[in-house]
Amino acid sequence: MEHVVIIGNGISGVTAARHIRKRSNKKITIISAESEYFFSRTALMYVYMGHMKFEHTKPYEDWFWSKNRIDIKNGFVETIETATKTLHFSDGETLQYDKLIIATGSKSNKFGWQGQNLKGVQGLYSKQDLENLEVHAPNNTICKRAVIVGGGLIGIELAEMLNSRNIPVTFLVRESSFWNSVLPDGESQMINRHIKNHHIDLRLSSNLKEIVSDEQGKVKSVIIEETGEEISCDFVGLAAGVSPNIDFIKESDIETNKGILVNRFLETNIPDVYAIGDCAEQREAIGNRKSIEAVWYTGRMMGEVVAQTICGHKIPYNPGHWFNSAKFFDIEYQTYGWVHGSKTKPDDEAHFHWKHEDNTKCITIAFNKNTNDFLGINTFGIRMRHEVFDKWLTEKRALDYVINHLPEANFDPEFYKHYEQGIQKAYKTQLQTV
Ligand SMILES: Cc1cc2nc3c(=O)[nH]c(=O)nc-3n(C[C@H](O)[C@H](O)[C@H](O)COP(=O)(O)OP(=O)(O)OC[C@H]3O[C@@H](n4cnc5c(N)ncnc54)[C@H](O)[C@@H]3O)c2cc1C
Repeated sequence: MEHVVIIGNGISGVTAARHIRKRSNKKITIISAESEYFFSRTALMYVYMGHMKFEHTKPYEDWFWSKNRIDIKNGFVETIETATKTLHFSDGETLQYDKLIIATGSKSNKFGWQGQNLKGVQGLYSKQDLENLEVHAPNNTICKRAVIVGGGLIGIELAEMLNSRNIPVTFLVRESSFWNSVLPDGESQMINRHIKNHHIDLRLSSNLKEIVSDEQGKVKSVIIEETGEEISCDFVGLAAGVSPNIDFIKESDIETNKGILVNRFLETNIPDVYAIGDCAEQREAIGNRKSIEAVWYTGRMMGEVVAQTICGHKIPYNPGHWFNSAKFFDIEYQTYGWVHGSKTKPDDEAHFHWKHEDNTKCITIAFNKNTNDFLGINTFGIRMRHEVFDKWLTEKRALDYVINHLPEANFDPEFYKHYEQGIQKAYKTQLQTV
């Protein structure tokens, strides 16, 4: 019987395993060095914040795997010998495969800062990171101040987590406004204010120079590049992005760049070896999308696609329109299609922006200046329906159409009772002033 081995039990690997089982009787083994069973990485923050126990982050009961004849193996794969189709584990064990799916996810970036490996300095990615966070930042007696380096989605989650335990936080953000490499200015500035309203010491245009050690090899302070200021702290969260977790692949003959290079069928350069999820890099980016996408649903889609291919129904990965969602403290964010930040906005992209006076809700609609085609929307503090925007993007609707039909996309009917007129009025006013 053909043996499919999957390295990584995250959303990508587990989705592939489930779909291969649905479609075949193949022998399936999932390997992980992190946790015995699959858990939801996106829920880690809620464990620290006390909203759920780690046990509750597991989407499947422990019996699910044996019932579905999916073997679970705990261990770290050190090398892949593709000529003999053999995996070598760090404890000396080996395992043969017929087909291999690499789904090893990401790791937190470390840019060679002095002190980056001290005790009390870590990223937020794995179950072990969560455990270490409990050791070094359990409360504000042991951790009198935390410093977070990097103003992205993980940085702001970490700020919210530490804030929930009343640990004072200094947040170092390299950009001049929060996440303005991605967000348009109005939105980014709204989030700056929101972060400060949560009593976070937000330092914009601030880079980490070095992390200083005490006599026990534990962090005692950080130094800021621009000002030389030294900030005392007991914990440093490194949240300056993630990159594919593929160091162990570099020894093999599987071709890599930043990630493991794959074609549209998620095949690597080696027959019978596939890569999916955060660790995969498309040889040619698909449309406007990035060649590496470290988001949950991308991994899930790739898992489904590769399962079909492995089960004899070869199909290309076709992710459709970009969407994503996140949370900035209590403001929910959704994005559909493309809304570029001021630094990356193409010349023919224009924006209609509306913000509520309470400073917690806004929308930005991107459209083509020349054709008036709808390109994408960002919403903050307002929930919208994914399928509606997906349809409008496919149908290439005009901006006017989208504004006039916004109530159809609304997830929360109450919102439009209050704000619909405001948005449409603002739109008319802006049209007159353009
Ligand atoms: C704190 C946090 C919050 C997030 N929030 C969101 C969100 O709100 N929305 C969103 O879309 N995305 C979010 N993400 C990103 C999302 O979680 C990832 O895109 C997704 O989990 C990646 O899944 P994956 O299966 O590709 O890899 P992973 O989940 O990283 O799984 C890979 C597994 O492989 C194991 N592994 C790696 N190398 C080896 C080896 N050599 N041997 C054995 N095992 C190995 C790893 O230990 C890991 O368990 C968040 C990420 C983090 C860290």
